[in-house]
Amino acid sequence: MIPTSVVFTGAFLMAVARFGSLNALEQDKRNPFWRRRLGAGLPSADTVGRVFAQLDQAGLRRLLHGLYDRLKRNKALDGTVLILDGHETTASYLRCCPGCLERKMQDGRIQYYHRVVLAMLVGGCLPFLLDMEPQQKGEDEVACALRLLGRVLQDFPRAFDLVVADGLYLGAPFVRFVLRHGKDAVIVLKDERRDLLQDARGIFRLEPPTVEIEGSIVRRMWDVDGLTSWTAMDVPIRVVRSLETRTVLRQRTKTPETTTSDWIWATTLSSKKASTRTVIDYGHDRWLIENKGFREMGTFWHADHIYRHDAGAITAFLLTLMVALNLFRAFVQLNIKPVLRERHTQLYFAQRLTAELLVGPTIPP
Ligand SMILES: [Zn+2]
Repeated sequence: MIPTSVVFTGAFLMAVARFGSLNALEQDKRNPFWRRRLGAGLPSADTVGRVFAQLDQAGLRRLLHGLYDRLKRNKALDGTVLILDGHETTASYLRCCPGCLERKMQDGRIQYYHRVVLAMLVGGCLPFLLDMEPQQKGEDEVACALRLLGRVLQDFPRAFDLVVADGLYLGAPFVRFVLRHGKDAVIVLKDERRDLLQDARGIFRLEPPTVEIEGSIVRRMWDVDGLTSWTAMDVPIRVVRSLETRTVLRQRTKTPETTTSDWIWATTLSSKKASTRTVIDYGHDRWLIENKGFREMGTFWHADHIYRHDAGAITAFLLTLMVALNLFRAFVQLNIKPVLRERHTQLYFAQRLTAELLVGPTIPP
């Protein structure tokens, strides 16, 4: 009785207008805008949730792909770095569904949660959310990420040359998989790879760093190639370290304050392909998925809100949100004049968009 297209368009506009919940959307049911846009009344929150639980997810991914192709054709996408990162979408002691993951907490209680891995393309003027994959029961994040990476490699074989990920991903199966597909990896090096880290640290102690000053940041860089201490890997690994000291003047006390961060990455990139500084920049790109990925999706686009507690619905809503966010970012980047864009935050444009969508133009053209 209600076409899927009406339900999808309603939910898509809910995402674009950042309503936050199906119930908030329902409050706006009487707005004549909906009948005008959808050609039918706005479906109930329950109907939207029920339809999304059964929605064709491959179709949603094709929608993302279509958007990617269009932006690529228009030369608007020039990033070649793929960032993979896991994120928890919900956690609860009370509510669970058949797709929930479970973990035992310190107090003995069972917590239910959902987790997804997101694939995002960065490195150019426009970040693009390519795909996501929900973590299944009994598998870890890396297994889920490998499934996602397999699909992304199949669907977007030439979209990227490099995979950047957190320390969790620095295992031989993951790095080998990336190499086998002709790509390179830059992965945070943590204590879990003790043999490699100890070996690299030994060399860092002996070699003087290259020092670079960039504004208020002093960067001491080390670059060690051809390490073979990670015995599970059959290729030598390169390790790059950046010890960064940032000095800022405290506004209130007018005293300088210094913060230091120590970054170490393992990479398969040769020094011919990427300089020390380039590897460091790639490594720092990972923070983009925090800022431009889930943090922004959670803070401004309500990605952390579960529209319906059902594994299928969670995936379908997230994919829909990814379409909305990609489209919104492309609009801000490509359709708004730089002078105007620089004067406002992304949130300002998102709010204007919501207002104009529901009310009409808010200022004379
Ligand atoms: Zn669940």
